[in-house]
Amino acid sequence: MVSRVIPVDPFDLVIFGGTGDLARRKILPGLYRRFLAGQMPPDSRIIGAARADLNDDSFRATVAEALAEFVPVALREPANVAAFLDRVGYVSIDAKGTGGWSDLKLRMRPNVVRAFYFSVAPALFGDLAERLHDHGIADAWSRIVVEKPFGRDLATARALNETLAKHFTEQQIYRIDHYLGKETVQNLMAVRFANILFEPLWKAQYIDHVQITVAETVDVDGRGAYYDKSGAMRDMVQNHMMQLLCLIAMEPPYHFDPDAVRDEKLKVIRALDPVTPEDIVRGQYLAGKGPDGARTGSYVEHSETPASTTESYIALKVNISNWRWKGTPFYLRTGKRLRARTSEIAITFKEPPHSIFDDAKGWRENVLVIRLQPNEGMNLMVMIKEPGPGGMRLMQVPLDMTFADALGAGAEEVPDAYERLIMDVIRGNQTLFMRGDEVEAAWAWADPVIQGWESRGDRPQGYDAGSSGPEDALMLMHRDGRRWREIKE
Ligand code: NAD
Repeated sequence: MVSRVIPVDPFDLVIFGGTGDLARRKILPGLYRRFLAGQMPPDSRIIGAARADLNDDSFRATVAEALAEFVPVALREPANVAAFLDRVGYVSIDAKGTGGWSDLKLRMRPNVVRAFYFSVAPALFGDLAERLHDHGIADAWSRIVVEKPFGRDLATARALNETLAKHFTEQQIYRIDHYLGKETVQNLMAVRFANILFEPLWKAQYIDHVQITVAETVDVDGRGAYYDKSGAMRDMVQNHMMQLLCLIAMEPPYHFDPDAVRDEKLKVIRALDPVTPEDIVRGQYLAGKGPDGARTGSYVEHSETPASTTESYIALKVNISNWRWKGTPFYLRTGKRLRARTSEIAITFKEPPHSIFDDAKGWRENVLVIRLQPNEGMNLMVMIKEPGPGGMRLMQVPLDMTFADALGAGAEEVPDAYERLIMDVIRGNQTLFMRGDEVEAAWAWADPVIQGWESRGDRPQGYDAGSSGPEDALMLMHRDGRRWREIKE
């Protein structure tokens, strides 16, 4: 099946940080794929803006290199690459200085959508907003796209919101959380709100618990200085995992409309209980062999901070105090250097109230598994009769919906989150972007959790590279009579 391409208006997209890692790996390859899909109107332009002293031609060469590295060769017909590069230009600019801004202004064309992607260090977000405004480069229809991290606590997030609000309205600000651009995550909303099947059961009465897992195999080597100031709670839980939790837990919005959806997510965040210390397990990976067989150093060796107490793993039990969810815990875990690279949401339903079958051994619950990575898709575990003449024995089987199969496409054709989100910016659709009050509410929940372990001076528990995380994380579930799903690809 070929997906429908919805046309967008012509645009000028300026990528601040156009020579950086994110631009090379995600933004530029994503734009190229949209170009191939016919979603880039002929009079649209991409302008890289960064400190490097490049011109249009030398920047095009770096874009060509990025495409060669991050786009499959089958999609890189030379004529297509050349036609894409024709749309690309470059301005050398310093976010903190004066050089380059008048040049950028000259490049801006009237009557096209102007979008400015801030793919630079967060310390520069405010400078960029101010200069775009002061040089008259942004107009009332311009949009800015702000990368993560959005603050490191409530105070810094609030300050950043206030700085951006001096120059842009909330309708112009697109705070990106690329998890929201994943097909599966959007499908979660389709499954919930476009089917009668699930929603009546979507409550504490029928759902035993929810697990959200984001497991990585990579370590922080080379990024230790950055990561040490962040840790798993700030890097993954406050933003990405919180967004996933909100989409599972929110009430049906009255319409699939940006503010209607975001209002419902905000209500979930506000209904979160404070997390008690016994419901938190933090870990740090130890030196050892990972799943790839390679030996690497420990977190502390990579962090550059002797005796660092930053967590590379966290597991939390989160309770939501509202009518729908009271009594159904959400267990969240994320970590680096784990057994496998996998992200999934598993919604475990309660067992039927009474079994008419003698085969209690095979008795298991229904689980709806939403896989974000790898192989985006969904699985619904259901009980059926074991085939054959062996009597009425039960077994659990998956009803499998892998999106790549359902779409009749190879896995690489499932659009990347950034592709989808950038096109939403051009369309002016903020549904999949975080609103300022949502981000602040998430920090208001996360701050006391972090301050709690900081004030107690808690040290994270060591865990083996290539394992499923610290021992205590297993106990977090065991003591409630539950268990984590296996971390596997
Ligand atoms: P990077 O260090 O690779 O690139 C930074 C870019 O900013 C470069 O193009 C550099 O020239 C430019 N730059 C630096 N100082 C500048 C200045 N004073 N004026 C103008 N340009 C300047 O960083 P990155 O990894 O691409 O990350 C960019 C942003 O995206 C950061 O906010 C980061 O947190 C976020 N992010 C990155 C990733 C990733 O996978 N790389 C993932 C999620 C979010």
